[in-house]
Amino acid sequence: MPSAFERRVQPQRENFVRETEGDDASAHGEDVGVIVLARKARRVEVVAERGADTGDLVRGDLFALPRTAEHDAAIGGTRGHCAADREADRRLYYVGLVMTPTVVISARGEDRVQSGHPWIYRADVASARASGGEIVEVRTPRGRVAGWALYSDRSQIALRMLSQREAPTGEAAIRARIASAIAFRESLKIDATAYRLVHGEADLLPSLIVDRYGDHLVVQALSQGMDRLLPFIVSTLNDLLHPKGILARNDPRARVLEGLEQRVEVLSGDVPESVTVTESGIEYDVDLRRGQKTGLFLDQRENRSAAAQYARGRLLDCFSYNGGFALVLGRLCRETIAFDVSEDAVARVRQNAQRNGVAVDARVGNVFDELRGLERTRERFDTIVLDPPAFAKNKAAITNARAGYKEINLRALKLLSPGGTLVTCSCSYHINEAAFAELVYEASVDANTPVTVVEKRMQGRDHPVLLGVPETYYLKCFILRKLA
Ligand code: SAH
Repeated sequence: MPSAFERRVQPQRENFVRETEGDDASAHGEDVGVIVLARKARRVEVVAERGADTGDLVRGDLFALPRTAEHDAAIGGTRGHCAADREADRRLYYVGLVMTPTVVISARGEDRVQSGHPWIYRADVASARASGGEIVEVRTPRGRVAGWALYSDRSQIALRMLSQREAPTGEAAIRARIASAIAFRESLKIDATAYRLVHGEADLLPSLIVDRYGDHLVVQALSQGMDRLLPFIVSTLNDLLHPKGILARNDPRARVLEGLEQRVEVLSGDVPESVTVTESGIEYDVDLRRGQKTGLFLDQRENRSAAAQYARGRLLDCFSYNGGFALVLGRLCRETIAFDVSEDAVARVRQNAQRNGVAVDARVGNVFDELRGLERTRERFDTIVLDPPAFAKNKAAITNARAGYKEINLRALKLLSPGGTLVTCSCSYHINEAAFAELVYEASVDANTPVTVVEKRMQGRDHPVLLGVPETYYLKCFILRKLA
């Protein structure tokens, strides 16, 4: 941040001249020195430089030089910063320049910023005078300040906008955003001790995730910029929430695209092997280090409670993970069967079921096979939940993903008794709500059954959707009723 840079010790003249091909001082905000021929005031000729590129200096940041060549004292504020070399009539100036890391974007990038989208792709970066992970000033092709962003020198997402304003976004602003995100969650009066505190872009903290699990916090920094800010974020969270421990679940693959290491580590305090949280009256043991996402699928909490209003009879929970739907809905059902392909997940369902006194028949199995098997044996269910992993992780996978979603919805509708409820979800943002509705409709046509929409839902309110940014609306959840 510009304000944080301090003047460095001035280099020796000899070093200065020899170091002219040194590293890019502009990227580090170092003092920049230039030797100028000062005879012609206002038409300064740069003879040697240390640090940043002369062209950059004269065109941009060193605008003051022509004037000060005429009047030495103006540079750096003191004469001490200017050493005369009478013979050549050259003057050496040490200029305490604060070189703001800057990225210039293309016209298309500018349109994107104006539309409010927080991501600027590498193809829309015209030039960058910054190093990866810095907070940079974003300029339009015409030189206007378009805002401030986290810069990545590796990811296809080169810039993640922190603000679309001219004023710099510094640590104070980031702290205020974290505080505001926390205050919003507190205002929701969530019936759980585990929920999301910071949801990245939708909290104006791009690529930062903070989840609360009781007295412990789990953070994810998914860009170079957020990674660099982590120590500040950890001290802010300690300050605001006084957690017993903060764990970094920095193992998502997204970090590889940023050239960052994948690692899980305790950043502050202590984090036990397993923590206990409650959600809608159900207690869970959560393994924060190895559990999926940051431990639990917190984004489904409100959908579980909503679905519980319709749950009855025989329940089938497909893709159960550690039993979120099976436990909340199972309390209201006569019999509950849960399927997950992961043995660890099924072991957790059993453990959580026992702990909460809910009878769940948890089985290891591939849902695609199991649904067909249940159809063959003519089983019937009154309530079915489909909560698969994201089938479309990228655009290339959309066709197969559509076929997968349609298949499980078709099978589930066939297994459902008339009047029964299907809770069907998709967390692929590459398949939007309309596309998901379309393929569930196609499944109902193939199953030859009329279906009504009881509720159209999405991720919980602690995972807000940022309008105009489709990537932030990923979880769709429809509660449907099979009529006949
Ligand atoms: N419903 C859960 C979250 C489900 S996450 C909750 O409310 O917490 C998706 C789960 O699907 C994961 O646990 C994963 O192990 C499981 N899974 C992925 N592919 C599967 C398949 N073909 N058959 C069964 N389970 C699968």
